[in-house]
Amino acid sequence: MSNKKYDIIVVGAGPAGACAAMSAASAGRRVLLLERKPVPGVPVRCGEGIGHQGMTLSFEPRPEWIKSTVTRARMFSPSGIGVEIGNVDKSYILDRERMDADLVRMAAEAGAEFRASSPVVWAEETSSNQYKVTCSNTPNNINTNNGTGTNNSADINNTDNTKTEFEAACLILADGVESRLARCFGWNTALRLADIETAAFARIETAGIEGDCCTFYTGSAVAPGGYLWVFPRGNGVANVGLGVIGSRCRAGLPKELLLDFIKRTYPEGRVTDLHCGGVPVAKWVRPLVRGGVMLVGDAARQVNAINGAGLAYSFYAGQLAGTVAAKAFRSDGGLRRKALSAYQREWAKVFGKQQERSFALKEFIMSADDAFLDKIADSLSKEPSGKVSYLRVFMRTFSSRPLLLFKAFKLFR
Ligand SMILES: Cc1cc2nc3c(=O)[nH]c(=O)nc-3n(C[C@H](O)[C@H](O)[C@H](O)COP(=O)(O)OP(=O)(O)OC[C@H]3O[C@@H](n4cnc5c(N)ncnc54)[C@H](O)[C@@H]3O)c2cc1C
Repeated sequence: MSNKKYDIIVVGAGPAGACAAMSAASAGRRVLLLERKPVPGVPVRCGEGIGHQGMTLSFEPRPEWIKSTVTRARMFSPSGIGVEIGNVDKSYILDRERMDADLVRMAAEAGAEFRASSPVVWAEETSSNQYKVTCSNTPNNINTNNGTGTNNSADINNTDNTKTEFEAACLILADGVESRLARCFGWNTALRLADIETAAFARIETAGIEGDCCTFYTGSAVAPGGYLWVFPRGNGVANVGLGVIGSRCRAGLPKELLLDFIKRTYPEGRVTDLHCGGVPVAKWVRPLVRGGVMLVGDAARQVNAINGAGLAYSFYAGQLAGTVAAKAFRSDGGLRRKALSAYQREWAKVFGKQQERSFALKEFIMSADDAFLDKIADSLSKEPSGKVSYLRVFMRTFSSRPLLLFKAFKLFR
């Protein structure tokens, strides 16, 4: 075992971790970014959709990251009533493989040391207020997902005895939805079944994909407690995926439902990629900081609970955590742990309320039955084409619940 020292160690080179490493390294800190996979972002387990606003909060989108630009949306109710949504804010379907690789490269260019194929199997605090991180030198098999959403993470009980240790004053955990490492520091990261969606995701090549339109399907036969989405990727390629809420899921169900949908809707479609993954649709974790350890991205449940989107939050949280951590170092190199709490304060100020509202709305939507969704779609479908906005859909959905309607309205302010 060797022992190497850094100011900050970031675990996980997804969007949250790469952004954290980039910000901290740009501010002059000595940063190590550890990733268990040989290539970050691969395989892609994401619809790759992001709104212009969410993206530009952290980055100007690079043209090479964008596969298509979406300006329209369509929703189908359980019985097949279609509603055209107008006034859709511009959104992008990204090339995550490209973007994730670029983000890691940008972190490295900012000065972070990046190590791929380096699963962290254990982390602990030392007696000298440092954090020791143990990395296995034998990367785990990275794609053993069994379709239940339990995508594998670093195996904490890994018996491999060739290990490398690293030390830092500050640890940023960006290890995704499972975040096993947070448990080393007392966080309980177990999710209620009602707070996790098991998602199945496929990339298909087929005719009949409208290049500028996202399509959503709802109903218990399509995606119990969740929804199915078709995102155009350009050139006759689409990302098709669905999420089933954990409390209504069984092993293999999301994949079965997805393949069944593709067969019915795109009989000529060719599936080129198929994966499963978990999406936390929970409240954000509190506290976000314990001692010198910070949680970011999916690990911190920084996700929009209504639609499972986490990319914009992960960019923002990663950048924020990295910046706060870098500033918390004194000129003598020591870390002022108390200063790390600025990360939680700022997060709560910018996104805390928004996330809490989406969580409350999600609880309601999950309890809505097919008849209710059909009724709403039926009334919206009678409105003039192009006049139905997302806000109108929400207003109509929650109109029987004044408090929820108020929360829905505030999401759009
Ligand atoms: C099917 C599906 C579709 C989705 N679609 C969308 C969408 O369209 N739009 C959207 O905004 N969001 C979407 N999301 C959510 C989005 O993908 C996540 O919110 C986002 O990737 C979170 O980024 P992250 O960096 O926190 O975690 P991740 O992207 O999961 O990255 C975590 C990284 O940590 C690494 N890691 C884990 N454990 C260890 C360890 N012990 N040691 C070292 N490395 C480790 C992992 O290999 C991984 O690279 C989707 C999710 C799924 C599953």
